[in-house]
Amino acid sequence: MHPEVDAVAEYVRAENGFLITSHVNPDIDSIASQLAIASALSSLGKESVIVNEDPIPRWLEFLPGSEGLRCDLPAEAGIRVALVLDASDLDRLGWVGDVVRERALPIVNIDHHADNVSFGRLNLVQPHVSSTAEMLVGLISALGLEIGRERATCLYAGILGDTGSFRHPNTTSRVFRVVADLVDEGADPERVATGIYYSRSVGAVRLLGEMLRTFRESDDGRIGVLELTRGSFDSSGATMDESNGYATWALSTRGTEVGVLLRELENGRIRVSFRSTPEVDVGAIARSLGGGGHSTAAGCVLDGSLDEVRGLVLSRIRELEFV
Ligand code: AMP
Ligand code: MN
Ligand code: MN
Repeated sequence: MHPEVDAVAEYVRAENGFLITSHVNPDIDSIASQLAIASALSSLGKESVIVNEDPIPRWLEFLPGSEGLRCDLPAEAGIRVALVLDASDLDRLGWVGDVVRERALPIVNIDHHADNVSFGRLNLVQPHVSSTAEMLVGLISALGLEIGRERATCLYAGILGDTGSFRHPNTTSRVFRVVADLVDEGADPERVATGIYYSRSVGAVRLLGEMLRTFRESDDGRIGVLELTRGSFDSSGATMDESNGYATWALSTRGTEVGVLLRELENGRIRVSFRSTPEVDVGAIARSLGGGGHSTAAGCVLDGSLDEVRGLVLSRIRELEFV
């Protein structure tokens, strides 16, 4: 039905020894997609290993199969093919991307970022699809497998993550049809919601409080800005990945079109997360600052103090999107 999906399925069926990987600072979609495809490969009797630069955030450990994720390359693994998920560019993979390049591994690139540079031997890139997880529903079926409860749980979680719990503009009627099927396959929305939204650490809730206190709006109310300093991470005891869903708060006031969350990293650089309404393309803004992402959710990492970065980001938003 989809020739590109069938081509990937055929290639995967003929190969063995997969290095499954995804982008640094993994989000729900990247983790869930890797777990689902690893499980599918295992059902086909194939060997695979999941390797990422960064560890799985603790709050995603409820996903079935998550104990299989690793941050080092096993010496004994007979790796022949790289399966790269949810990454627009090999540079997004951190050191795992260097391994893929050095070994000249054939790459299967499966992604939904519009700015994907088609770096694979096979490129399955579907920017109109909500998430890599949603794409994998079709691929796993094309591999001749049932989705099954565990894979359905992962794929449901990935779609939930990348649609911002069915709030972002990528929440199409097709998404609801797909997740309805996943629930029929055994995904439990209540269990996934408990894992993602109701299993936070006390520190993460305190960090949220500190962050919300920093909220400010531009004079015209179109831009909302939030900040998290090193000090707020230290005093709350929360980790960077626990704040990964917090950027949407910057977009939460009436009339706000762009939300920005600035987070001070341990190395002193500033991680910038953009969220926007469909009228504003924050992907273009992030790209102009050396980052990337989707039109309504994007990010970059910049040098400078919080004040400097805030100034640069606000002026870039004005230049590119607002007159
Ligand atoms: P975040 O705000 O970090 O959750 O990122 C939102 C979206 O932007 C995700 O789809 C990321 O893949 C993408 N993104 C974030 N940071 C970067 C970056 N430095 N380079 C390219 N894409 C990014
Ligand atoms: Mn992602
Ligand atoms: Mn994604």
